[in-house]
Amino acid sequence: MGKATRTTKLLLDLGKRDQGGANTAKQAALTATVEVLNAARGFYINFFLAHPDKLAERVLYYSEQHLEMRERAISAHELLTWAETCTVATKAHPHPWPGWDFSERFPEMPCEYRRSVIKDAIGKARSYLSNLANWQKTGKKKGKPGLPGARNHPTLYQGLITLDLAQFSTKERYVRLKVYTGERWEWHNYPVRASRYFQRRLTQANWEKESPKLVLHKHEASLHFAQTKQITAKKVVERKQDPDLVTVGVDLNVKNLAVITVRQHDTIMKTLFVTDHGLDQARFKHLKRIAKKQHLSGKPVKGEHSNQELWRHVRRMNEDAAQKVARSIAEVCANYPGCVLLFERLRKIKQRGGSKSRRMNRKQANQLRGKINQYAKAKAFEHGVVTVEINPHGTSHYCSRCGAKGERFSLLGGKRITAKWGKLFACPVCHSQTNADHNASQNMHHSFYHEWHWRPQHPPPSPVKPSG
Ligand SMILES: [Zn+2]
Repeated sequence: MGKATRTTKLLLDLGKRDQGGANTAKQAALTATVEVLNAARGFYINFFLAHPDKLAERVLYYSEQHLEMRERAISAHELLTWAETCTVATKAHPHPWPGWDFSERFPEMPCEYRRSVIKDAIGKARSYLSNLANWQKTGKKKGKPGLPGARNHPTLYQGLITLDLAQFSTKERYVRLKVYTGERWEWHNYPVRASRYFQRRLTQANWEKESPKLVLHKHEASLHFAQTKQITAKKVVERKQDPDLVTVGVDLNVKNLAVITVRQHDTIMKTLFVTDHGLDQARFKHLKRIAKKQHLSGKPVKGEHSNQELWRHVRRMNEDAAQKVARSIAEVCANYPGCVLLFERLRKIKQRGGSKSRRMNRKQANQLRGKINQYAKAKAFEHGVVTVEINPHGTSHYCSRCGAKGERFSLLGGKRITAKWGKLFACPVCHSQTNADHNASQNMHHSFYHEWHWRPQHPPPSPVKPSG
């Protein structure tokens, strides 16, 4: 049993007005909303930190299960109600505590927004206090936890957003949000950029949708819907008992981003090479430019980022490739329900020496592999597929056909060159020659089943005493 999570994003259109983007007043309203909510969150964080005893309060309750009165920690919901009675003027409580009059400082703030910031503030204050207590226990001088910041992405509860999914089949697409104009709270329509995939993804069966968050960046605003799905997945130990178990081995590399092999009943049924389509080379070209610029401009200025656009481009190329490769891995897994996905425990591909741009490129390639690993795990889990990290030792040095130790080589100008970076693999025993990455990918299955080289090293059995 487990839970898969994912995020579905809806981009608000902040483009040019004549191209259907939101006008500047509406854009300013988004910023104002985030700011006033940050201030409100700060108010409640201060409020809770001023009353730490209340956060630690224990309450009595009647346990139906044990049929007696018991004690438990105060719940977030009870804290919220308590905070509201202390700070918000109502008919029942017309006078909030002096110095903590929320209604006066934030007049007419919708109660849904108020509740969402109180919930945020409770979480932040609680985690700060527990971190502080842990730090005090250690008795160290350094590492005192800092006060919690008030910034966060606002959560849009029901009553603050109306999203009519039926209109997504038409051209006029917008979402209605309750925003702060700087003077009052108003409903405004915001044009959105969404494809038909958005609607399909958001309403997909078995995926539960949570309240969206408004994520505001310098040039971009979007709504992030977190979605969760209940997954029933058997444990790997149980699956291993199944003689018909399918294993999907993935070897991550630089040029062949992923080599996927599928094995059942001791035979490889399917092989898939996912190449980088020249990504490594393109990225290298960009990094060469960055390195050159850095060299020309001398020391980088402290606190100032240079080559921002180029770096952003490189990051986006990596991110895009990671998502695409992870998707193709997950698609293979989806064809074999109940299979086990095998990854190598990630090791760094180290490059000693070489130019600066080459070293930077290698670092980026390592990051890309980490991302593919992470995304593929999450995407495969959505199909109920669990992942095992296997011992990578020797996967690229041993023959996947007979288990003998072989060597890697490459053909350069018709000549055979033996090298660690060789693209091909040759076995001296069974004389097979294969693609080195493919060989490594097949070896992952051997490692998972503890065959050949990967068999656990048992101490020699103690001599059996003759009985009688
Ligand atoms: Zn061999």
